[in-house]
Amino acid sequence: MVSEFDRHNAPKDLLTRRQLRAAGLSPCGHDPVAQLRCHRCSYRPRIECTHLAWLYRADLAKPKRVPTLAQEGALDRAMAARQTCPKCKRRYYFYLPLRTQGCCDPCHQGFEPAPDTYTTSPAPALHRLAA
Ligand SMILES: [Zn+2]
Repeated sequence: MVSEFDRHNAPKDLLTRRQLRAAGLSPCGHDPVAQLRCHRCSYRPRIECTHLAWLYRADLAKPKRVPTLAQEGALDRAMAARQTCPKCKRRYYFYLPLRTQGCCDPCHQGFEPAPDTYTTSPAPALHRLAA
């Protein structure tokens, strides 16, 4: 059973998809809970009206993508901390023995690492230029 509202009696916590998007939100997969009838049709009996809009609960909507990116950023920083050697500032594709050794094997044993074991793309967290 889906409730129907028109623009005058629609609850304030129910928003159309367009209103959600304007607020930087997305329904985040939850189903619409009500329908909004257009202004004109609300004055008439139930004739065919193509102006129905789905209404979503604003409290179930989530900010679009922002948390995902933040989580990815946090994850990447956590990974970078475990993959980056504090001595040579190289970021490797694998976790370094930082707790036991404190640096990468090449630094520890004094050899040049293979180029395919670390990334050469500039990472903001490394401050390569300042090092
Ligand atoms: Zn190193």
